[in-house]
Amino acid sequence: VIHWSPFIQSFKKNQYPWIQLAGHQGNFHAGEPGAILKKRDSKEQKAYTKLANDVLKTYIPQFRGNVEKDGEEYIQLQDLLCEFESPNAMDIKMGKRTYLEEELVKARKKPQMRKDMYQKMSEVDPTALTEEEHMLGAITKPRYLQWRDQMSSTEELGFRIEGIKRTDGASSKNFKKTKSRSEVKSAFDMFVEGNGKILKNYICRLKELRSTQEKSPFFQSHEIIGSSLLFVHDKSESASVWMIDFGKTSSLDDGKTVDHRSSWEEGNHEDGYLFGLDNIIEIMEELCQS
Ligand code: ATP
Ligand code: MG
Ligand code: MG
Repeated sequence: VIHWSPFIQSFKKNQYPWIQLAGHQGNFHAGEPGAILKKRDSKEQKAYTKLANDVLKTYIPQFRGNVEKDGEEYIQLQDLLCEFESPNAMDIKMGKRTYLEEELVKARKKPQMRKDMYQKMSEVDPTALTEEEHMLGAITKPRYLQWRDQMSSTEELGFRIEGIKRTDGASSKNFKKTKSRSEVKSAFDMFVEGNGKILKNYICRLKELRSTQEKSPFFQSHEIIGSSLLFVHDKSESASVWMIDFGKTSSLDDGKTVDHRSSWEEGNHEDGYLFGLDNIIEIMEELCQS
């Protein structure tokens, strides 16, 4: 069963079912009108605090402090959907890999074998598992994440579609095997319903975002893994994109930088974020011309 809306959101005088395209349902709740609560993660909170003073601040949801609810800690974030009327939304996870270097190091030092991840992998592609892994009936988390990156467009294109929700209901959460340029292109086309104006608005916003990222001190000094771009448009044809999800965003050691395009070698922290963004823009431009 796919649950799209964990709660009913309120904003000004409106009420609407909130859309959640990724993550665990229990991690999100309604906040103050126009805001949502996400389970607190100290890494993510740190990123939001720093981003509030960076040139990127207009491309992220506003961070509105901490809230405690039923004994759990949450961060309160601006709800990016609330200015839209019946929004269509798409979540794209950025980068050429979805695991942090420190996760690899940890798994090597002290491998935690995960039966649940073995299970998930063997359900989709048992031939991808080695004999030894079958015998153990368990794999490490980086192994699982690496496999998902290979199966989707993450490794090749530097991004993958996590979910799309269109107001007319024509949507799917299952893009796990969407891998090739042409598959991605038709998913984008389905998302904008062939509307060239909306596509142009997205391309324009993405180009502004890219040039801001290239100038951003925050962006240059962080390994940004598992973070998403949230695309939102409605029938008025306004379309926007924001950066969300900083649970795996890590600051580099003092003075170290990444360019987000160079290929990754363990130790250089390159994540391929801009390699992926270049590809999204290129694919959308091709779609515009076709
Ligand atoms: P995962 O790490 O598995 O991707 P997560 O628990 O870190 O999940 P997010 O990816 O941050 O969660 O968010 C999940 C979904 O919730 C997004 O795909 C998006 O649909 C929605 N969402 C998150 N933040 C906002 C926001 N500020 N405004 C509107 N929608 C949001
Ligand atoms: Mg996410
Ligand atoms: Mg996350």
